[in-house]
Order: sequence, then structure tokens, then C-alpha cells
Amino acid sequence: MRAAVYKGKQELVIEDLPLPEPGAGEILVKVSHSAICGTDVHAFLYDIAPPGTVMGHEFSGTVAAVGPGVTMWKEGDRIIGGGGTPPPGSEAPLRRQEQYNYRLEGFADTRKRGYAEFTLLNDWAPLSIPDNVSDLKAALTEPCSVAVRAVRLSNMKLGDVVAVLGAGPIGLLTMQAARAAGARKIIVSEPSATRRDTALQLGADAVVNPSSEDVISSIVNLAEGDGPHVVFECAAAPSTLDAALNMVRKKGSVMLVALAWENVPLLPVDWAGKEIQLNTTFGAEPYDWKVALDLISNGKVDLEPMLLDTDILTLDGIQEAFEALVKPSTQVQMVVRF
Ligand SMILES: [Zn+2]
Repeated sequence: MRAAVYKGKQELVIEDLPLPEPGAGEILVKVSHSAICGTDVHAFLYDIAPPGTVMGHEFSGTVAAVGPGVTMWKEGDRIIGGGGTPPPGSEAPLRRQEQYNYRLEGFADTRKRGYAEFTLLNDWAPLSIPDNVSDLKAALTEPCSVAVRAVRLSNMKLGDVVAVLGAGPIGLLTMQAARAAGARKIIVSEPSATRRDTALQLGADAVVNPSSEDVISSIVNLAEGDGPHVVFECAAAPSTLDAALNMVRKKGSVMLVALAWENVPLLPVDWAGKEIQLNTTFGAEPYDWKVALDLISNGKVDLEPMLLDTDILTLDGIQEAFEALVKPSTQVQMVVRF
């Protein structure tokens, strides 16, 4: 099978690997679509994935074979590569280790994952794809579940004014999840004009261009002069966390969704007096996946405007796609189609 193998030093090489055989309790999945996640781009940019890694955790496909003892799935079932409930002890390290450093421990998994024609999963791991959701859209259930968790763990309430900083895939999904959860007004900040347009298409009430206007005062003004009740930081640019803390209203909350892999400057004296809450979220749990899939299936999260034909590539284009994504990007969501 063909797979994009990370060789180190920002190099992905397409190699022919042996077709894996499903062991007891495992299924072999023929990958249909694999979305490129910012996390993988960070692992590439900071050269953190060990050489030999096949990344890709946002994928959909069909069951190609089942290992001994598997009764939950049969050949041909359409599945999403995650969202199932792990048995006790098989939870992700983040969920069971008290102290966990994602940057140092997050890429140790040796399993060949979604940037390959086939991959193995434990039988408990996938979710079944509803009939009205295409394989392409199903591949975005994972990032959508991240957005769902961000909203669920935030203090957002019905009627809140919300700002979303960054309109990459996670920002665009977070704004839609916030709307589904009852946000009254959503203001999106994003330097790329393409992404701002997508945000408007998806129902943002206002967009702000942080490269040409003062993002803090623009958003405070759009939020009736008081600032948003909740700010979702989905950009991880050097200045966005500090901007979020500066623009949020008194007693408001900032939900840190994006992960900065470098130090970001903060000047607490500017905003600490507002008695703000800062919350964090990371990945998603099985329940968030189910909510995400419902939102995709019932149309409350619209993926159509995020999936442009031009951003759908073949495995051979993956090195080029990663190189494009490490620079400030205008693409919305890049997806490998097999
Ligand atoms: Zn992801």
C-alpha cells in the first residue's frame, strides 16, 4: 500500500509499505479521505514526529477486513477513524496521565495512520457514518469534535456575544458550534480574505482583518462597546492570546483552542483586572465526536463552504500541501483523497 512516510526534517516520502493484517480485535480500513490537520503540520514544521511515522488522524473509509473475534463490523461498513469509546486502560495518554506534555509525548504512536491507503484500527475505535454524510465530510468529524468540545468546556451561554480569532478549519467549526449552542452574535478575526469570506458564508455576523485594523478595538466596538462574553482563540499567532485577553469583557472567558508551539508574549497588567477566566481544551472525547457527527448530519455544521475542490489533493501532493500550510495559509481545509 502507498503511504506518506515522515522521514524527518520536513520531508514526507510516498513509499510502498506492506499491507497490514488485522490482528485479534482489529479491523483493516481502506482509507477514503484524510484531512490535513494543523497538529500534523506542527509536527512537520517543528520536526517532532519520529522518522517512519505515518500521520493522519482525520479520516474516513470502509472496512476492508476484520481480524479474529471482531463482531462489531463487517467488510464494506463505512467508518470514521475515531470517536469510539476506548475500554478502560486504552484511553489516550492525555486522558490518563496526570502530567502530559503533548509537544514531547504526543507523537510517539508507531501505528501507521490516515495518510496511507490502508490503516488498522481497534474495533472499538471508529464510528459508523450516517447515510446522509459523504466520506469527504465524515473525514472532518475529528476537527468538528474539537470545536464541539471547545464550546462545551467554555462558559458560553445562550445569547452571548462571541469572538473567534482565526478562521482556519477549527475556527470555522468553532463558530458554527457556538452558533448551534446559542451565540447571539459572532465576530471572526482572520487575516486571509478567502477565509473571512468563508466565515461570512457560514454565518459570521461580522469579520475583522487583524492585519489592517486594530483587532482589539474593532471587536470591542462590534461587541457593543463592552467586548465579547467569550473569545475562542483558534489562531495561535504570537499576539492572539494576549489580544483575546484584552478584548474579552469584564468577568468574561477566553477559551484557548489553538496550540502555540512557541512562547507567546502576555502582559497581564493590561487585563488581569477584568477578573477573566482562561479555559483550555484539547482534542475531544467520544461524546464530543457523537455531537459533532449529529451537527454534520443535521446541517447545523455546514462543511460545504470549507471544502473547495482545489484543496482536495492526491497522496502525491502531500509534501507540497504541508509546505504550503506551514506558511500563513489561505486554504481552508486540505484533504487527501485516495
Ligand atoms: Zn486534528
